Amino acid sequence: MTEEYDGWDIPAGDDDGGDDVQLPVVAVVGRPNVGKSTLVNRIIGRREAVVEDVPGVTRDRVTYEANWRGRRFTLVDTGGWDPGASGMAARIAEQAQVAAELADVILFVVDATVGATDVDEAVGAVLRRAGKPIVLAANKVDDQRAELEAASLWSLGLGEPLPVSALHGRASGDLLDAVLEALPEAPSEDTRREGGPRRVALVGKPNVGKSSLLNKLARSERVLVDPMAGTTRDPVDELIELGGKTWRFVDTAGIRRRARELQGADFYAGMRTQAALERSEVAVVLIDAAESITEQDLRIVSMVIESGRAMVVAFNKWDLLDEERRFYLEREIERALVRAPWALRVNISARTGRNVEKLVPAIETALESWSTRVPTAKLNAFFTELIAATPPPVRGGKQPKILFATQASTEPPKFVLFTSGFLEESYRRFIERRLREEFGFAGSPIVLTMKIRE
Ligand code: GDP
Ligand code: GDP
Repeated sequence: MTEEYDGWDIPAGDDDGGDDVQLPVVAVVGRPNVGKSTLVNRIIGRREAVVEDVPGVTRDRVTYEANWRGRRFTLVDTGGWDPGASGMAARIAEQAQVAAELADVILFVVDATVGATDVDEAVGAVLRRAGKPIVLAANKVDDQRAELEAASLWSLGLGEPLPVSALHGRASGDLLDAVLEALPEAPSEDTRREGGPRRVALVGKPNVGKSSLLNKLARSERVLVDPMAGTTRDPVDELIELGGKTWRFVDTAGIRRRARELQGADFYAGMRTQAALERSEVAVVLIDAAESITEQDLRIVSMVIESGRAMVVAFNKWDLLDEERRFYLEREIERALVRAPWALRVNISARTGRNVEKLVPAIETALESWSTRVPTAKLNAFFTELIAATPPPVRGGKQPKILFATQASTEPPKFVLFTSGFLEESYRRFIERRLREEFGFAGSPIVLTMKIRE
């Protein structure tokens, strides 16, 4: 369960849901130390990611939601990975390539006090070929004097260098204006709203069987590569017909390409996973059941939870399980899904095809839950009964009351409770359990928000 106490304002009336889906993506690219992270922090401002303490899970979030002049977009920070000195240019160029595939707009950051280095030139060449809109930030222009240095970056052949100081905020508004201008007109095509296919992200650490599963699914049924999305060399998504419906599997280009045996490969993988999740409605997380569940698996599950997408967990390579492994597996699974006991589970073998046909019904159920809307009257009747049976625990001598409840949005379902005081965590968990017992939501996260009226 995610809790937010005074986050977003409740829309007047019910909104149409789906407000987290399909924001345009801006990737921040550049060599180490040019100020990418500083710039990202400045852009997201106080909307810093909420960091929770999750035992055993390292948080290495790379995408953030940003908002400038009312326009929302997803910011991908490619700065979290520090490549070694050897072969740096090639690796950064590769990072730029990945970012260019994923993003709608590239924010290329160069250190104006250093000028264009060989690495910057190499990245620039990659970006030019990608054909995506580029905003060139000449960073570390802390005062007017330094603006001259920024002008030298015209030599990169990427258009006007925009002088900015990420550290002090100088001209960062102008930079963001330029980013907005480069964004695609509408938030990127939302195919489902026009009756288009629903979007599935197939995620999991390397070698869990993503491409095997994709092949299995694609072989039995009809596959179309999506010509629309293929602005770069590889088609980005594939449309696969399953169970009489067409589904959009996002970023299959990233799945079909063999995992890079590179330093920083984990970081790329994380970035790709995040980006695929951003574009999806439901995630199928593949976990290798034949081997111990790893930190990387847990991290990916965490990413899905944080993305707010519906989730199906497929335990793959079931054909390899022996008695002993089976014995330990259930415990490990419980641990892996402790934060998301609601996730739907399927045990499959991409090799033999075992249970693969159960995936689609699971995906459909999860999506249905994700889009569920509970009418306000029904919700309040539910709460009246719940409170009568189990009132919120007294806190500081007062008993908080739940005055009114409403579902603010769907995808995922978000509920807002208007209360006269703070509700304890344990009580909120109790509410979530009861909501699930009553209304289902299998395969979907739900969000509870309190609005405290003193
Ligand atoms: P990244 O590796 O590209 O993410 O770079 P960081 O954001 O970590 O910044 C690298 C260093 O440059 C840090 O010491 C920052 O404080 C510094 N820095 C970043 N932006 C500016 C700036 O606008 N002006 C100055 N003077 N220093 C900056
Ligand atoms: P990806 O990196 O996640 O795309 O994983 P691949 O699809 O490339 O699979 C990695 C390896 O696991 C390959 O050798 C596959 O043949 C093997 N593999 C995938 N699924 C299964 C399965 O269900 N059972 C068995 N025994 N092997 C599998």
